[in-house]
Amino acid sequence: MKHILNKNTQEVLQAAQKQCQQQGLRFTTKRSNVLQLMLNENKSLSAYDIMAEYKTQYNQSISAVSVYRMLDFLIHAQFVHKLISSSQYIVCSHITCHHAHEIPQLLICDTCHQVEEISIGKLLASELEANIAASGFKLQRQQLELHGVCISCQNLH
Ligand SMILES: [Zn+2]
Ligand SMILES: [Zn+2]
Ligand SMILES: [Zn+2]
Repeated sequence: MKHILNKNTQEVLQAAQKQCQQQGLRFTTKRSNVLQLMLNENKSLSAYDIMAEYKTQYNQSISAVSVYRMLDFLIHAQFVHKLISSSQYIVCSHITCHHAHEIPQLLICDTCHQVEEISIGKLLASELEANIAASGFKLQRQQLELHGVCISCQNLH
């Protein structure tokens, strides 16, 4: 399923706030600020990028340790995905959606570093799972990261 995240930052933050209430999670101001910052940047960021941007946008220093803690929270709440291949973070495209989150397939452009999130269809996902189960392997993280060149970068050539 392909969805594009609503570009209205306030709406996304409100949806995140509501989901936290429903799940009994605390959406503190700092956590909300980090998510807002990532929405503003609209590309994948490292924890250190986030730390630097936080200082620029909110005029307040936060430690790397607290950035990692806030990112852990945002990942747990499924508002953010971590790109394992680059140790960077992106905002989930489905925060304002009402369907269950499917296995993310993250298309990473190596030219502009934009990441597009699409999902693996149920059929393919169950086939993958069956394949993996048959090999006896125990899967811990379900996420696919694919590197390439996005449509707008292809059009530049
Ligand atoms: Zn997602
Ligand atoms: Zn969606
Ligand atoms: Zn690109």
